[in-house]
Amino acid sequence: MSYTIKQDREKCMGCGACVVACPENWEMKSDGKARPKKLKIEKKDLEGNREAEAVCPVQIIHILQK
Ligand code: SF4
Repeated sequence: MSYTIKQDREKCMGCGACVVACPENWEMKSDGKARPKKLKIEKKDLEGNREAEAVCPVQIIHILQK
């Protein structure tokens, strides 16, 4: 089972909550918005990325199951 992360990056407000929740896969870029390091993730990466999905205040992170 693999998973794909979708981020509606246009709407990212740069709060950094996803990076705090999941530094393994989320980082701030020079434009002040966050981005996942990997869009395709495995089951072992799910927990942290689900955390990022949950804490995003504008709910623009979505994890889709393939
Ligand atoms: S939590 Fe959401 S709004 Fe905040 S930096 Fe991450 S993607 Fe952007």
